[in-house]
Amino acid sequence: MRQVMVAGNWKMNGSSDSVKELMAGINAGMGSVTKAEVVVCPPAVYIARVSDAADGTAIKVGSQNICDQDKGAFTGELSGEMLKDVGCEYAIIGHSERRALYAETDDLVAKRFAAARRNGIKPLFCIGETLAEREAGVTNDVCARQIDAVIALEGVEALADGVIAYEPVWAIGTGKVATPEQAQEVHAFIRAKIANLSADVAQGLRILYGGSMNPGNAAELIGQPDIDGGLIGGASLKAEDFLAICMAAE
Ligand code: PEP
Repeated sequence: MRQVMVAGNWKMNGSSDSVKELMAGINAGMGSVTKAEVVVCPPAVYIARVSDAADGTAIKVGSQNICDQDKGAFTGELSGEMLKDVGCEYAIIGHSERRALYAETDDLVAKRFAAARRNGIKPLFCIGETLAEREAGVTNDVCARQIDAVIALEGVEALADGVIAYEPVWAIGTGKVATPEQAQEVHAFIRAKIANLSADVAQGLRILYGGSMNPGNAAELIGQPDIDGGLIGGASLKAEDFLAICMAAE
């Protein structure tokens, strides 16, 4: 039985005050969340204080990226050891904004995945197609290529240490959510693809959906057989909406 998961990607939003308020708001509603694993991924500068606020609660903390290297002259990067030190249990890896705006390749994403694993951080590994790729009918090929980069470097068993988030790029931050059927079709493909290499890994692997998930559409999406939760952007910035999605996941 796969535990449902709801993760919030706060992206580059927030301030000391708003982060404090958001954490207090989420924490106040956590008593009703009994089944879902809840993770928040703040901007790096707020991770330590969010970890403090999460201390003693069921809320887990993640980073929005992780360096592929472990130490040294990598200006602007954050190592797995540092992220662990400030309380990260998860790291988002391969988000489409990193791939598109900062030219992160499948190869680099795979190396970041490897760095997370060797530092005991669970990769929250994002994959997904652009609108042009969907329209060209290559959605499955794109997802397979992105997953294969990790498998080539780390082996299929490595996927068991993390979570995959299927995030169609055209649905991220656009309000254009994939239909439950569209999302389920890709999730089922991902699971079947992994099952070809390891039935056990495929069966245990959580595959989240991300892309304009909100309190109104979460239950139907997460109700699909191969959708094990959500990675939430915009709606994770309001405690009320984020908690409503956690409740929908329950
Ligand atoms: C995301 O950035 O991972 C995301 C899913 O964003 P949004 O929910 O805003 O579409």
